[in-house]
Amino acid sequence: MTTTRFAPSPTGYIHVGNLRTALFNYLIARKSGGTFILRLDDTDPERSKQEYADAIMEDLEWLGLTWDRVEKQSDRLDRYHAAADELRDKGRFYEAFETPTELDLKRKKQLNMGKPPVYDRSALALSEDEKTALRAERGDGVWRFKLDHERIEWTDGILGDISIDAASVSDPVLIRADGQFLYTLASVCDDVDFGITDVVRGSDHVTNTATQIQIIQALNGTVPAFAHHSLLTGPQGEALSKRLGTLSLRDLRAQGVEPMALLSLMARLGSSQPVELRASLDEIVEGFDLNSFGAAPTKFDVNDLFPLTAHVNAARAYADVAERIRALGVPEDQAERFWTVARENITTLDDLEGWWVLCRDGAEPLIAEEDAEMIATAMPLLPEPPYDDATWKTWTDAVKEATGRKGKGLFMPLRKAVTGMERGPDMSNLMPLLQKVRAKG
Ligand code: GLU
Repeated sequence: MTTTRFAPSPTGYIHVGNLRTALFNYLIARKSGGTFILRLDDTDPERSKQEYADAIMEDLEWLGLTWDRVEKQSDRLDRYHAAADELRDKGRFYEAFETPTELDLKRKKQLNMGKPPVYDRSALALSEDEKTALRAERGDGVWRFKLDHERIEWTDGILGDISIDAASVSDPVLIRADGQFLYTLASVCDDVDFGITDVVRGSDHVTNTATQIQIIQALNGTVPAFAHHSLLTGPQGEALSKRLGTLSLRDLRAQGVEPMALLSLMARLGSSQPVELRASLDEIVEGFDLNSFGAAPTKFDVNDLFPLTAHVNAARAYADVAERIRALGVPEDQAERFWTVARENITTLDDLEGWWVLCRDGAEPLIAEEDAEMIATAMPLLPEPPYDDATWKTWTDAVKEATGRKGKGLFMPLRKAVTGMERGPDMSNLMPLLQKVRAKG
């Protein structure tokens, strides 16, 4: 039985970067009829906030990425204590007392000597007396996991065969000097206890995975299948990390981006399969293939979301937007027609308002000099509203007769005079919605 998890820290909002992680784990679970767990990595009491936890859930719900259960790391501190004891008993855990400045100095020295900046394990050589003295002088130390210096290997679901020399990695700190459990230990305990079978996360976690595999093994747990997706960059390949703040799901939602547009893009971006707009999450689940994703950084352009959003809206049923249209003040008997006319001509639903204002108040006419005379002839031929399905035909026939104009030379100036735009809805359909034509004066 497949069990996956999405494990955000509730220290901020979800953005397009971590949405991929959420989505891939969700899709893997749903594709196999398995379980998808939302895990809140909230062991840092200062940075974790309930409001962010709530926002994460709200954003996932907006997208329809439903979880089967929520787990909070802050509820599981006893378990992490027990795991720490177990690692201590097994001789895989040691206390170290270096200050950050000392560690920094060591790293610089190593780098100067052309060596990788790996923790030198001096703490392992400390006697009990030395430790007691250090503890008295500096307070409690940090707790590091003692890696076995061998190669750590796994077949990554995206990156393929990975082999990391454990000696090239520092023994990870699992408990801070103030006693706070760090993500690595908590995550390992959770993955083991919750029976996580598949972990997909960003490629910035590859080294963590290597150390976590050894910790899982030290705790006699089953190592899940790992896959690391590439990180997103901007359209020119520039780092996105600084801009992610403005690419939160709530910002995108506020800009009118539609969930299916975002999901359809994210389920394919960076894969060998083309981006195709899907009508439902079920369709996305069906077409998802983790193996089709590549290791190269994935370019993301927020602007790609808008044409997809326009397509989602164009295909949308009236019932889905009826309330919103009524809220604009569109009369009940015109609401459905208004939607049929407007939906092909909007990007986001926010654009509906502009179309309604045009119908209600009329538009500033756009009249080219060479058409001024023709429009002057045409406008008196247009009766006062209300209009009906026949109005456009009757009117344009009359204008044709009166001016001798035809085809584009007839229709375009009239469209521009009535709507103030060169493009827009089919005019026969639009006319019955117009409550005012300002060009009539
Ligand atoms: N809270 C971690 C993060 O957001 C989870 C990483 C993981 O998936 O293990 O980076």
